[in-house]
Amino acid sequence: MKISEKILNLVPYQTGKPIDEAKREYGLSQVCKLASNENPLGPSPMAIEAIKNELHQLHRYPDGGCYDLKHHMSRHFGLDPNWLMFGNGSNEIIDLLIRLYCEPGDEILTSRSAFIAYKLCAQAARVDVKELLMTQDLKFNVEEFLKYLSKKSSKTKLIFLSNPNNPTGTYLNKDEFENFFSVVGERDDLIIIIDEAYFEFVRAKDYPNGQEFLNKYHNIVVLRTMSKVYGLAGLRLGIGMARPEIVSLFHRIRNPFNVNSLAQVATIAALNDKTHIQNSQNIVWEGLDFFYKELTQLELPYTPSQGNFLLFDTKRDAGVMSHELLKLGVIMRPVQAYGFPTSLRLSVGLPHENKMAIDALKKIIGSSK
Ligand SMILES: *Cc1c(COP(=O)(O)O)cnc(C)c1O
Repeated sequence: MKISEKILNLVPYQTGKPIDEAKREYGLSQVCKLASNENPLGPSPMAIEAIKNELHQLHRYPDGGCYDLKHHMSRHFGLDPNWLMFGNGSNEIIDLLIRLYCEPGDEILTSRSAFIAYKLCAQAARVDVKELLMTQDLKFNVEEFLKYLSKKSSKTKLIFLSNPNNPTGTYLNKDEFENFFSVVGERDDLIIIIDEAYFEFVRAKDYPNGQEFLNKYHNIVVLRTMSKVYGLAGLRLGIGMARPEIVSLFHRIRNPFNVNSLAQVATIAALNDKTHIQNSQNIVWEGLDFFYKELTQLELPYTPSQGNFLLFDTKRDAGVMSHELLKLGVIMRPVQAYGFPTSLRLSVGLPHENKMAIDALKKIIGSSK
């Protein structure tokens, strides 16, 4: 049977190496995984409690309409319930939006070094991907986007902006957003998806909250996730905010039970656990500042980050470097697929894990001098 070229050319998403696998392969007893932007504090204790209370209901199908979750979330964001949609991770929402708005041969537009899930979901749907280069300082190149969209608009249906972006940690500021949306925010042949997976970690004062643009422009979808600051990556819950017309189209094509029952109750509990959220933010902010200081001393250039991770230049082949780090029990993420052959992305961990990572880097660099 003939398989589509788009499928044959698809390189599956590379997940971070699991801790047990690293232990097995390298014969290590202690391994720290700083590779998947997970919350090093774990889930909120309140979320765990909510899950325990829900376990005896596991023989029941979940609430396909996520009634409680939706109303809770509606209050949380100050957004009408029919402006909310949920997915099995924001990854599923990305996947479904592409299926919803693109026919094979249509195109999505994003950056060469943007989160790679956009590209993979598009390929799986036989949709073309146009990637524009980032600026020198590794930001989405707004001018190039506008130039491209004014030239040939017909094929581009969806634009994906991750703000802040993974793996660069960079962001578009309010002025750049205004500039972009004032040109394309009224177009009815385009949907712009603003992926704010790291929203809660942003410290930059001029960062634009995508939610504030929802009323102003009709063609925007904002994505949030429970996988990062809330520490619920294993449960899979993504949040989409958009006009009711978009949300109701989404409901037509999603699976009836795309969000499981444990994710629904845990999310409500996690949203309420302000202490856990604050602790999670603080550990990341302190960790980032620690890495900035240490990497400067090691003379390894880094890109300041608004996420819970950091892209830095090892000034060596990143494949070799990540292998050396693994031997010392530290898992980081190579990012060659994003166009960075000498860089690694590290996720901020607990203080002793961060120190272990820096000690390992020092050891490797010291021995190669
Ligand atoms: C981690 C991440 C997500 C979250 O994906 P989930 O499917 O919700 O776990 C979304 N977008 C970006 C840019 C990310 O880095």
